[in-house]
Amino acid sequence: MYSKNEWTAEFKELMSDDKFHDECGVIGISSPGAQNIAKDVYFGLHSLQHRGQESAGIASNMYGNINYYKDMGLVQEVFDDNIIKTLPGDICIGHVRYSTAGESHVTNAQPLVVYSKMGSLALAHNGNLTNAKKLRDQMQDYGYIFQTAIDSEIIAALIARFLKDGSVEQAISKAAAMIEGGFSLVITTGDKLIGVRDPHGIRPLCIGKTNSGYVISSESCVFPLQGAKFLRDVKPGEIVIIENNELKSIMYNENASHKVCSFEYVYFARTDSHIDEKSVYMTRREAGKILARADDTEADLVIAVPDSGTVAAIGYAEESGIPFGEGLIKNRYVGRTFIQPTQEMRELSVRMKLNVLEENVKDKRIIMIDDSIVRGTTSGKIVKMLKDAGASEVHVRISSPPVTHSCYMGIDTPNRKNLMAANKSIEEMRVHIGADSLKFLSVEGLEDCIGLGDSICKACFTGDYPVELYDIEHEVSRNSEKTIIGEYD
Ligand code: AMP
Repeated sequence: MYSKNEWTAEFKELMSDDKFHDECGVIGISSPGAQNIAKDVYFGLHSLQHRGQESAGIASNMYGNINYYKDMGLVQEVFDDNIIKTLPGDICIGHVRYSTAGESHVTNAQPLVVYSKMGSLALAHNGNLTNAKKLRDQMQDYGYIFQTAIDSEIIAALIARFLKDGSVEQAISKAAAMIEGGFSLVITTGDKLIGVRDPHGIRPLCIGKTNSGYVISSESCVFPLQGAKFLRDVKPGEIVIIENNELKSIMYNENASHKVCSFEYVYFARTDSHIDEKSVYMTRREAGKILARADDTEADLVIAVPDSGTVAAIGYAEESGIPFGEGLIKNRYVGRTFIQPTQEMRELSVRMKLNVLEENVKDKRIIMIDDSIVRGTTSGKIVKMLKDAGASEVHVRISSPPVTHSCYMGIDTPNRKNLMAANKSIEEMRVHIGADSLKFLSVEGLEDCIGLGDSICKACFTGDYPVELYDIEHEVSRNSEKTIIGEYD
């Protein structure tokens, strides 16, 4: 048992470790003439709920007037019919967010709505900026005040500042050129719905076409429910503007290399989504097949850690010829296990979430597939549960490479000191989780299963970051060429 002080100390430490992380989903719909498009955004947010379970919000735009509602909780807890009715308009954006508990407050929920001289603007943001602190410091020196702790407020303030000098498109282009990191934005102002993707395309964003308009979303899994057809991905460094039911495109940065987040394919995105024209499902299945090709372990049953390992386990079983079966049953009504304030709570929540199907695993040699090992809590706990239920051998296979580095661009991985693979060899990890053997997908295997060559960000597996980590390395230089001071004179 933890004493209150120990609990608070560990909680604070964990929270400060995780302060840069922010996982989110965004959606925007434009449907000229429609009365209450907020309802469609509400349904869309349900399909993006896996990207964030902490807060949800919708902002609606009626002839340039923006109404919004946001609160802590799941989409279905935050909204009801009466609230949706207070959000009229034919352009609407929505957001779901998961951050660490340290930042867990409704002031940090999105969409963010700002009122500039040029009109109201609502913005929803997925990702993390790697120069947010630097920009915030510079802006504060110039008298800016911020009401929230989120990067989105910096983006909104920059856009509002540049709006004075030109069109919305120009203002967004200028703001987007100043921010760095992984970001996807949906924005509405005036009679426009706008989508923006970071120059490397680290965070996903795609466009769907309905009979009456357009949908912009973090993931394509929202389209069927909207009656929308997948049109295309927003390109890295592109701004798309939807106005009067027409789609315009501006490239604000074409020079950066394409580096879409590989962890979206590994874990984060929904299995039925396509990102940059690659099917998440096929990627995961192929990862399982590649794992099996590099493995000659004899076993009786392939099982998945549901749901994150299921597709890779199917691929592994297909390729190896070892039958796939259920070994773990998931309670679908328990939330995430990944970030819980203390180790004890994390361990308890694995047991709350999963039960072993003893009938299937007793006296069997098991291949257990999961998508990733981050802290190592989940795998260790499950191996023990399987062994306690009588499994004779448990061979753990992970359908991604070891996570050795933290992500600062929008995936919620902890500080390196809490990443198991950053601190232990594979053999030490095997011993720690109590498995009979442990194998990971190789980095080459990851590239092969996604099929986008080198156009993927693998920073969490290799430490090779596609962007400068200004904030993280505390390189807050006031003389950098990207300084905004000149721009404000
Ligand atoms: P652990 O090794 O105990 O930290 O847990 C790893 C498990 O958490 C993986 O099997 C994933 O299913 C899940 N997971 C991995 N990355 C994340 C993330 N960024 N957010 C939430 N869950 C995650």
